[in-house]
Amino acid sequence: MDLKSINWKNLDFGYRKAPFRFHARWKEGQWESGRLVEDDYIRIEESATALHYGQQCFEGMKAQRSSSGKVYLFRPEENGKRMQDSARRLMMPEVPLDLFLKGINEVVRANIEYVPPYGFGASLYLRPMLIGTGHNLGVKPAPEYLFAVFVSPVGPYFKEGFKPIRVKAESYFDRAAPHGIGHVKAGGNYSAGMLPVTKARQEGYAEVVYLDAKEHRYFEELGAANIFFILNDNTFVTPKSDAILPSVTRRSIMEIAEKDFGIKVEERPFGINEISRVKEVGACGTAAVITPIGEMLINDETFRFYDQGKTPGPITEKLYKHLTSLQVGDIEDNHHWLTEVK
Ligand SMILES: *Cc1c(COP(=O)(O)O)cnc(C)c1O
Repeated sequence: MDLKSINWKNLDFGYRKAPFRFHARWKEGQWESGRLVEDDYIRIEESATALHYGQQCFEGMKAQRSSSGKVYLFRPEENGKRMQDSARRLMMPEVPLDLFLKGINEVVRANIEYVPPYGFGASLYLRPMLIGTGHNLGVKPAPEYLFAVFVSPVGPYFKEGFKPIRVKAESYFDRAAPHGIGHVKAGGNYSAGMLPVTKARQEGYAEVVYLDAKEHRYFEELGAANIFFILNDNTFVTPKSDAILPSVTRRSIMEIAEKDFGIKVEERPFGINEISRVKEVGACGTAAVITPIGEMLINDETFRFYDQGKTPGPITEKLYKHLTSLQVGDIEDNHHWLTEVK
């Protein structure tokens, strides 16, 4: 990829090959120290569990540039810990936090020119992953593993940018079973979501909102983002469920809402029958950042939120501005969430 040919302003959320990636293998109970490699192909056994049984997990993070040209990561240790949670659930060896952070930092440093300049809303997306390798046939944990991190410069996940999207509450398909693997970032959750989201897009929706798999009465989350609601009394509510992926972005905006803005924050089961009390809705995640949801179809009935779904709601916008300014170092990082890559 030629850096000069990149139009930072019109970047989509897609893969663009950067020069370096980080690889560390696990064998016989030991992690190697890991190294940077240039080859964007991975050679693994045809019988690897990652390929047959989905024994793999991943993370998504961003490196962003400040107005003075510094490069910041946002709460990278939280991603490292979550990857350990995913590994334990899928019977893979945990990547030690220091190896995870070393991989992240080395790969960003090696590809530093690919961190987009300040002011375009673009970032360097990081994709850490852990995959089961080594020869194996039966359904059992792999004998070997690979921890890899690659990067790609990206623009916004929703091409519209900070504009309200239309979503559909999914009334048939489920994302995750109540005691399944919805709470970890395992690839299988995302292949299961490709069909429902493709159908929803054909119907003109940007995303689907999954409901709880047991009763289809409570909101859970989107395919790759959590959801939050601002009620008529200004309370911030976000669903509590064991089947949703605990978003670092969500945890951060809950803290911003509560501590920086004095907003009442609730994490509790949130039923579709409460939708009439809602005035703003948003999706949140590393890729989605905060994306306002203007309209939602629930069982054949369309609900529109702030300004008939035409513009982002004021609280959603306030949270978005605060989070995005904080992430690029425009405002004081009083939560101590930024790590500079030097
Ligand atoms: C990655 C992801 C999120 C967002 O998590 P962040 O830590 O904020 O990036 C939310 N939901 C799902 C299903 C995800 O995969």
